[in-house]
Amino acid sequence: MFAKEFVDGVGYKYKKVKSVSCDRRFEVWGVRSGSEGHGEEPYEFKQVVSFNNEQGYIECSCMKFIEVGILCSHCLQVLHACCVDKVLHQYVLKWWCKEIKEGEFNVIEKYVKSL
Ligand SMILES: [Zn+2]
Repeated sequence: MFAKEFVDGVGYKYKKVKSVSCDRRFEVWGVRSGSEGHGEEPYEFKQVVSFNNEQGYIECSCMKFIEVGILCSHCLQVLHACCVDKVLHQYVLKWWCKEIKEGEFNVIEKYVKSL
């Protein structure tokens, strides 16, 4: 599930819309394929991701992390764009990334290399 989020995020476009010291805001947009097994048409989306590198804070307007506990592809794209190669610890929940060994948080780096 996490891998899908990351792979989806690779094709997204983004631009920085605000940058005040470590407080940054990005617009992320692109075309997302329909849900698996539902035969839905691809749809366009646009989300706003707020990211504060110093405070280790990231939030997306899609609210996926808050609702289902998975860091969404929009956030991953922004983290990748900002060269943050370690997913912030509080966003790594063991139940959704079993393949990660305890204490190993270089998730994005790992997936970039596997692409
Ligand atoms: Zn999102």
